[in-house]
Amino acid sequence: MNSDFYEKLSTIVSAENVIENEMMSRHTTFRTGGPADYFVRVNTIEELSSLMALFKELHMELLKDVYVVGNGSNLLVSDKGFKGVILCLDGDFCDVSLKDKVVTAGAAAINAKVANLARDNGLTGFEFAHGIPGTIGGALIMNAGAYGGEMKQVVRKVRVMESDGTIKTVEGQDLEFGYRTSLFKGKPLVILDTEIELTDGDSAEIDAVMKDLMERRRTKQPLEYPSAGSTFKRPEGYFAGKLIEEAGLRGYSNGDAQVSEKHCGFVINKGKATSSDIYKLICDVQNKVKENSGIELQPEVIKLGDFEV
Ligand SMILES: Cc1cc2nc3c(=O)[nH]c(=O)nc-3n(C[C@H](O)[C@H](O)[C@H](O)COP(=O)(O)OP(=O)(O)OC[C@H]3O[C@@H](n4cnc5c(N)ncnc54)[C@H](O)[C@@H]3O)c2cc1C
Repeated sequence: MNSDFYEKLSTIVSAENVIENEMMSRHTTFRTGGPADYFVRVNTIEELSSLMALFKELHMELLKDVYVVGNGSNLLVSDKGFKGVILCLDGDFCDVSLKDKVVTAGAAAINAKVANLARDNGLTGFEFAHGIPGTIGGALIMNAGAYGGEMKQVVRKVRVMESDGTIKTVEGQDLEFGYRTSLFKGKPLVILDTEIELTDGDSAEIDAVMKDLMERRRTKQPLEYPSAGSTFKRPEGYFAGKLIEEAGLRGYSNGDAQVSEKHCGFVINKGKATSSDIYKLICDVQNKVKENSGIELQPEVIKLGDFEV
């Protein structure tokens, strides 16, 4: 990469939206991760479309040389950083609007913003997502869910941009939602926006449910420390946190990376942990749980960049 490439990016999104060598620790809830060559804020679909054309011309591939981040709340980025371009949707992509019982939400809108709009308009069905600290884009990729709710239940359609710039709409029934996965996971595309269909409810009741769920999170989860939420997926028939506890790993640490004492399913950053510390801890936990119970835990957290054990 060179100054010519920087100029081309700046021409499309303006110079203030292109940051070179941006530390990804500023964009992940683990507060870890090294520098991205280029961190680019994209405010409109037109800008995104021009960027896609530029990447195509330069043979840069989505997921390999170009990566989209939401709120970084499910990401472990290598301490060596990311060689390429990180795209962060902003501006128009944060818009949310309501027509009848359908919320149209941009991919960069934070879940809580959508949940609050629904509550204020007496619409129920999105309370579960209020405390999930990510964007709509991240929630769609992951089929984010909590307390019996998941994106699968409410998404009517999703618009995406493919790497050749084509915009496609995918209907709800074709989204292949599964446990923490969807049709889009691992695919070279950018989610633009979605339609979420809700049902009539009572604002005060919706508010009470959201407050109750938040209180449950505060009581049970180590929200006072940086983390990426549940580090591991729930193995069928088990709870990751219980398996970790039974393996004697409550409070187990590697540097400042620690299995939370409050909730064994969370790996937390107690202050100065690096992504390598966190990754090694994750591997240790997987090995020890396997030894103790025979069960192989799979990380829910997505790794970006190079990691060594
Ligand atoms: C304290 C805490 C509690 C949590 N609780 C829950 C919970 O209850 N339930 C749950 O499911 N998760 C939970 N999580 C995990 C996390 O918040 C979710 O997975 C969330 O959906 C990730 O969204 P994000 O915007 O942060 O995505 P990121 O972490 O930024 O990215 C996740 C993936 O989505 C992709 N992506 C994001 N936006 C786009 C886009 N526009 N187009 C294409 N790809 C995109 C990224 O490339 C990446 O592959 C928790 C995390 C924390 C820190």
